[in-house]
Amino acid sequence: MIEMSRLSYSRLDLYNTCPRAFAMKYVHKAEPENDTADYFAEYGIIAHALYEEHANARGLIPKTVLTDMFHNGTETRDGMVKGFNDIKLPPYMANKYYQQGLDLIDRLLHTSVANVVGSEVKFSIYIEGIPVPIEGFIDKVERDERGYIITDFKSARPYTQEFCDESLQMSIYAMAALELYGELPYKQVYEFFRFNETVKTVRTMKQLEEAKQEIRRRWDCIQRKEFDPQYDQFFCNNFCQYAKSCSLKQQMDAEKAQRRIERAQRKQARDAKKAAKQQEGDV
Ligand code: SF4
Repeated sequence: MIEMSRLSYSRLDLYNTCPRAFAMKYVHKAEPENDTADYFAEYGIIAHALYEEHANARGLIPKTVLTDMFHNGTETRDGMVKGFNDIKLPPYMANKYYQQGLDLIDRLLHTSVANVVGSEVKFSIYIEGIPVPIEGFIDKVERDERGYIITDFKSARPYTQEFCDESLQMSIYAMAALELYGELPYKQVYEFFRFNETVKTVRTMKQLEEAKQEIRRRWDCIQRKEFDPQYDQFFCNNFCQYAKSCSLKQQMDAEKAQRRIERAQRKQARDAKKAAKQQEGDV
């Protein structure tokens, strides 16, 4: 059996994105080989910390303190979180992300925390057929007269409704809520905080069974050591920590370079033909 003490949504998601990257990170526990675009994650962590501190203080943190946390970072129960001043966003993104952070603080100050029953709620659940727990944290749990609401904060662009309705992450959170509170949430929300947009979804017991089957399928693939690389241009170029040693990426890069050369050669030939025609006309 592959040695692994736990699963999580991010592990299952990485396996789905690229089994080789998953194996390098969680099976071989290899050191990262190359830099990745960490600023997306770091920016997300700042925003999560702002939400969490705001909820934990029952909404009583003044704007000046939240703004200072945003700029300079803060100490949370999970350790030190970097501030905006410390993350290295590409210059063309920095202004936009900075303003979106300040807008988030303004919105937070007008967001009620009266129904919040937990933020960064830890869970650990087992599903039949998998000997290790699935662990994670739910960003925000609220309860009102209709029941529980689960929210996950995202720094990404808003997902489609279809994606949210099929998201394995939300199915895992629904399983966790069922275990923690004894009932399914009646509403699950992705909050895309940079864009001030939300997408709502919900899960049924039938969908949870389907999600469990999918998790078992991925677990079985991991146990069979199915770790072939899976190329995704955006992920491979920005987020894979093991791209340097990846032969598939090298092959794709070489093919891309070859296509670029061929395009340049075709253009050169067209230009030469055009110039020759022009010369003929001039004679
Ligand atoms: S570079 Fe791409 S294909 Fe290669 S391991 Fe990383 S994610 Fe997978």
